[in-house]
This record gives sequence, structure tokens and C-alpha cells, in this order.
Amino acid sequence: MTAFQWFYSFLKKHNKKMFLGLVMCTVISVLAIVKPIVSGLIVDDVITAGMYEKLPMLIALLILITVLRGLLRYQSQVIFETCSQDVLYSMRDKVYRKLLQEDFSFYNKKRTGDLLSRQTGDMDAIRHFVAFVIYQVYEMIFIFFFALIMIYTVSWQLALCMTIILPFAAAVTYSQTKTGRPRFQHIREQFSSLNTFVQENISGNRVVKAFSKEDYEIEKFNKENDAYRDAELSAADIWTKYVPMFEFLSNMLTIILMLVGSIMVIRGNMTLGNYVTVNGYLWMLTNPLRQIGWRINDIQRFTTSVEKIYTTYSEEPDVKQPKHGYVKKRLEGDVAFKNVSYSADDEDIIRNVSFHVKSGQTVGILGSTGSGKSTIMNLLCRFYDVTSGEVLVDGKNVKDMDLYNLRQNIGMAMQDVFLFSDTVEGNIAYSKPDCPFEEVQKAAIMADADSFIRSMPDGYDTIVGERGVGLSGGQKQRISLARALLKEPSILILDDTTSAVDMETESYIQKQLNAIDHKCTIFIVAYRISSIKDADLILVLNNGEIVEQGTHDELLANNGYYATVFRHQYGEYEKYIKKGGDKHGKK
Ligand code: ATP
Ligand code: MG
Repeated sequence: MTAFQWFYSFLKKHNKKMFLGLVMCTVISVLAIVKPIVSGLIVDDVITAGMYEKLPMLIALLILITVLRGLLRYQSQVIFETCSQDVLYSMRDKVYRKLLQEDFSFYNKKRTGDLLSRQTGDMDAIRHFVAFVIYQVYEMIFIFFFALIMIYTVSWQLALCMTIILPFAAAVTYSQTKTGRPRFQHIREQFSSLNTFVQENISGNRVVKAFSKEDYEIEKFNKENDAYRDAELSAADIWTKYVPMFEFLSNMLTIILMLVGSIMVIRGNMTLGNYVTVNGYLWMLTNPLRQIGWRINDIQRFTTSVEKIYTTYSEEPDVKQPKHGYVKKRLEGDVAFKNVSYSADDEDIIRNVSFHVKSGQTVGILGSTGSGKSTIMNLLCRFYDVTSGEVLVDGKNVKDMDLYNLRQNIGMAMQDVFLFSDTVEGNIAYSKPDCPFEEVQKAAIMADADSFIRSMPDGYDTIVGERGVGLSGGQKQRISLARALLKEPSILILDDTTSAVDMETESYIQKQLNAIDHKCTIFIVAYRISSIKDADLILVLNNGEIVEQGTHDELLANNGYYATVFRHQYGEYEKYIKKGGDKHGKK
């Protein structure tokens, strides 16, 4: 499918309405022809032949035509505007749905500003095209050729003289279209770039302030702003060059009419009335010619935007939903990795990882930064697909499972906490927006978030700023944990979720996790030994490989990386244990 076929698939749903609109435009154009005929009759019959009684009727006809054209114009514009909004509505919806289907790799590569431009500026070019350009171009072409035919009926010699202009008009149109195309593409790219810059800077304004880089950012913004202005100016350069050419051609038409028409009237080959009639048709030829430059401009904006939107839309995610994926409302949570490797951009990130976790067990994952801990969790959720090997949940390859069913069974508190600008309650209840408040509070209590939430002025109704602004790092982590817990998942993933909370809080949370009343396999990714010490299985990762695995005691006995890390942290842990339990007074 090409970009235009794709666009047409939206437009064709409004075929009948668009057709009706164009019929109205045809009537409007045909009615425009009547005006010069009436003017001719006034000259020939009323003024020259003295048939004054015809005048009131002719004037009444002119008024009637004017009113009718006005009404039809109003109605047709309502039709085109409604169609354009409907086309846009379904296109935006379709593109948005596709964006939601895209995988992590897609978002890793794409710039947010680019995607925003597709949904805003580019969509508007399409709206303008459907609401205005289609009928304008249709009317232009129709009126031009209709006027030529009408002139032909009056005087074929004159009509023939006027067609001399046509090849020139076609050549100029072709030349404008050819030179304009790359410049319009450049405009769209600069617009995306400007959008990305502004979006990134607004999101990152705290960093800009912290480093006092306002002047530097303004300078960078000015460069983007300049580049966008230059791109627009370079496109404007085209119409400023071509519009006068069309203007020249339309003036040539007038000159031809005056010259050839006058000679014919003088020689008696044409009546004065006919000359007036042809003169009346003249604007119908010159107007379209004058407008060609502008309409080519509009069409090129439209074509570049459709192509841009379609290119984004047609990118297929690597992670695909299987046609008849395995569905089971509640999975057991038995997880196995079999010789799993994953590489991205020719770089091996995970190498030959194998382990097996039974349903309900807890797994601790330890490893230096960048060792691949989050990646393993991402592979389990199928945010990426393995390069080789298999990830099995309940004995089924995740690639054969219904993607949504799999993810519905996983509760994940991601390392990079993202909160929506919504209330605290709305954020926690994200997976179950209609659940009773007690459930939300229960999840918050388990995540040790209830007390700090209640101490906020609006409690659970407190609005969290975008990305969780206004909350401390540990508070955000606990809300994100509560959000994952509320799902009551079969598999719970805590990726560095307690790194920003103190050890007492962490110990409290661990006790709560042990007390989860449904069967739940838990993955805890952490740097602190205390977070994973009691796990049924501990995986130690290094450089994408599992270098050690076993229980705490086994790994200590092994005297490897884990034992070294344990000895480093041991003093701190011992001190804490001696103090006696967590801040909630429970051991
Ligand atoms: P940390 O403890 O800092 O969170 P981690 O163990 O979770 O680290 P990962 O996020 O899994 O580490 O990343 C492992 C390595 O893979 C890193 O070097 C990272 O840059 C790289 N990486 C992860 N995802 C991708 C990707 N999609 N494309 C390219 N490289 C990636
Ligand atoms: Mg990580």
C-alpha cells in the first residue's frame, strides 16, 4: 500500500458526501458562466437593440444566481469541513492505536517531538487538503476548461488562440512541483526537530536550571528556530518565483483576448455583445492560472505530510502479537530461560542465560551496572524478543502466548519510574481504575506508601505532577510498587524498586511481599544483598552472563562475586539487624 492509497482508505468512507460537495461546486461553477451570458444579453439586446423590457428579468436572474451560489457555497463548505474532520479523527485514532502497539525498540529510536509532529502539524496539512484544496483544485480545473468550451461556442478562433497558453502553464506547473518537493520535506523535518527540541527542553528544564545552561539552550533553540524559518523561507522562495509566472500567463490571456477580440469585432466577425461575454469568461481562465502556484504549494504540503505519517504508521513492531496466542486468565508464574541470548545493534547484551523458577518462588538478581538485569526482565515481559533461546512461562514460549494476556499477569515496578499526571489513587489504580478504594489502600500499605500519602494535604487525591514531579525518589518508587501490587499478578518484577528507600522501609516491604496471599513469583533486581538474601534463587550477572546462581548460603560457600559483595555490605547489614527489626516494630 502506498501512502496515498492509505490516505484514500480514510477518504473513501466519505465518498458520497465528497461527491455531493463536488456536484454543488460544479453547479456553482456552471452558474458562474451565466453571469457573462447575461452581461452579453444586456449589451446586445437591452443596450444595442433597445429591448428595455428584458432588463428587470435579467437583473432578477442575476440576483437569483448570486443567492443560489451563496447557499450552495455555504452547504458545500459545511460538507467538506465535516468530511475533513471525520477523516482526521479516524486517522489520528488509527495512528495513535498503532503507536501504542509499537515496541520498545521503536520508541528507543524515535524522537518524541517527531511523533508529536505527526499527530499535530502533519495532520493539519491533511485537514486543509480535504476541507479546502480538493474542491478548490476541482473548481479551478472545471472552470478553466468550461470557460474555454464556452468561449469556443462563441468564437472557435478566439478559443484556439487562448489555448496557446496551456503548454506554458503545464511546463511551469511541472517545474514548480519538481523544485518544491524536497523543500517541503525539509520543512517537515525541521518542524519535527524544533518540536523535539522544545519538548525535550521543557521536560528537562530542571537539569537546564541546575547547570545554569539557559543561555546555552537559548542559543541552541535559536539555531533550531533559524533552521525552521530558513526552511519555510526556502519553500516560500518557490512560490514567490512561480506565482508571478502564472500571473504573467494570465495577463497574456487578457492581452490575447483584447488583441484578437478587438480585431474580430472591428472586422465584423464578432458582435460587441459576444466580445463582452468572452471578456466575462476571461476571469474564469485567469483566476485558475493565478491560483495554480498556491494550490501546488498546498498539495505539496499535503503529500509530504501524508508520506511522513504513513512512514511512521507502517513501521511494524519486532515484537508481534501471535495470531492465536495462548490465553490463560491466571498464569501459574513458572518461569524458565533456556539458553537465552539477546543482542541489539550487533552488541551482545545477554549471553546464554538459563535458569528455572517455580511458581511462587522468589528470585534475586544481582550484578554490576549494565550487566543486563533489566534486559532479562524486559525479555520476560516480551518488551524485546530473544535473539536465540527460549523464554518459557508455565512451559509455554512467550512468543506463542497472547501478548496482552502475558503482560496482564505480570506486575512490574520499573527501574525508571513513570507516574502519570493524575491523582495518587489514579496512579496506583492504573490497572484497575474501578477497584474499590480499600484495594488501593491495601496495595499502598504493602508498599509502605499509605502513611506518607495520607500525610499529604489532599491524601490519595493529591495530583502528582508530570512524571511524578513533587514526590521524592523513594515515594515515587513506593507508588510504583503499589501500582504493581494492586494488579495481584502471577509474576511480580521489582527492578531496583527499593533502591531509594531506607533499609527499614525495605525490610518492611520484604515482609509484606512474603505475606502476599496469592501465588506470585517474585523477581527482585537489587544491588543490596539484604534485598535478595532470602530469595529461593539468586542469579549473579556479569556482562550479560550468569556467573553464579544458587541460594544465599550456596553462593557464600562458593566464595565468588556474591560472597565478595556480601562481605562489602555485611558490616552495614549486621549493624542494622542488631538494632532490631524495622521501623514498624515488626521482626
Ligand atoms: P543497571 O543496574 O544500571 O540498571 P542493568 O543490569 O539493568 O543495569 P541493562 O539495562 O539490562 O543493565 O543493560 C545492559 C546493557 O545493554 C547496557 O550496556 C545497555 O546499554 C545495553 N542495552 C540495553 N538495552 C539496549 C537496547 N535496546 N539497545 C542497545 N543496547 C541496549
Ligand atoms: Mg537496570
